[in-house]
Amino acid sequence: MANVAAIQWYFPSELDEVPEILTQEGVIPHSGGTGILWGGLTRVRGLMDVSRLDLRFVRKRDGALTLGAALSYRQTVEALAVKGQILAQSLHCAATEPLRNRITLGGSISMFPYWSDLMGPLLALEAELSLVGATSGIRPLSEYVTNRKLRQNTLITSIRLSDASWQGTYYRHTRTPTDRPAFSITVLMRRNSKRIEAIRIVVIGCRGRFRRLTEIENALNGAPIPGDPAELIATASGKLNFDFPARMGFSAEYLKACALIELERTLGSALGSTQRDPS
Ligand SMILES: Cc1cc2nc3c(=O)[nH]c(=O)nc-3n(C[C@H](O)[C@H](O)[C@H](O)COP(=O)(O)OP(=O)(O)OC[C@H]3O[C@@H](n4cnc5c(N)ncnc54)[C@H](O)[C@@H]3O)c2cc1C
Repeated sequence: MANVAAIQWYFPSELDEVPEILTQEGVIPHSGGTGILWGGLTRVRGLMDVSRLDLRFVRKRDGALTLGAALSYRQTVEALAVKGQILAQSLHCAATEPLRNRITLGGSISMFPYWSDLMGPLLALEAELSLVGATSGIRPLSEYVTNRKLRQNTLITSIRLSDASWQGTYYRHTRTPTDRPAFSITVLMRRNSKRIEAIRIVVIGCRGRFRRLTEIENALNGAPIPGDPAELIATASGKLNFDFPARMGFSAEYLKACALIELERTLGSALGSTQRDPS
């Protein structure tokens, strides 16, 4: 059996208390608590519970949306569902209802598993994070996930979406409805009756954890809406260069083949040529 040291709990109620708590060796935030055990507790000496901090808010100001990091997936869906927001679509399908009641935004960003239903929409929306601790201030999410130093001894306090008004389509590749996805695809689009004004595409779960498909975005940005979107999509997909590791009983080749097919379908759905259910 793994040797687990006695764990000290901390319950700050003010953000001012956080930096000092997190400078201690082996002390990490505890939010929903659904992910901490995946990593094992052998090096954990202390857990800083975030539930007494004021981190469960939804604020809208000047077109920007700010979400507190301790909001659960369920609370986020409830806050955003009326607007048809892409995050409401993706988080509504994640895991099971009891888990959605616990899993939080901050814990899910910090952990970033390949099965995340949160990270595709947030990366596509070019989210920014508010951080407190060894690093404090506002940083782009894309920097947080690629710079290990930003994640050490640091608490995510909120997520800012400066422009959340995109039309979104989300796909998760699962074996059953409550399964975690082997990969997911997020497409955000703005279009008029004639042209694609702007498009963003993010794949989660490929090698390197995620890819923003800028090669396809560049080919489609400003392109006329075709009579038959299949042709445009096939040309765009030909520019793709991504791979998947084998996982969940799927081979790498099979996952790549599935991802290409599902990318075409998701783009088709975003262009309005087909309807699809995200799950
Ligand atoms: C059976 C099962 C199935 C799941 N399926 C899915 C799924 O289909 N889709 C999906 O999206 N997710 C799914 N999840 C959730 C996912 O695997 C993680 O467990 C979850 O995202 C972690 O979030 P949490 O709030 O529980 O974080 P916690 O467990 O509290 O923490 C996870 C990590 O983040 C750190 N942390 C916590 N809060 C913060 C913060 N505010 N700032 C900085 N660091 C922080 C912790 O120190 C820890 O290292 C599933 C989980 C389980 C158990």
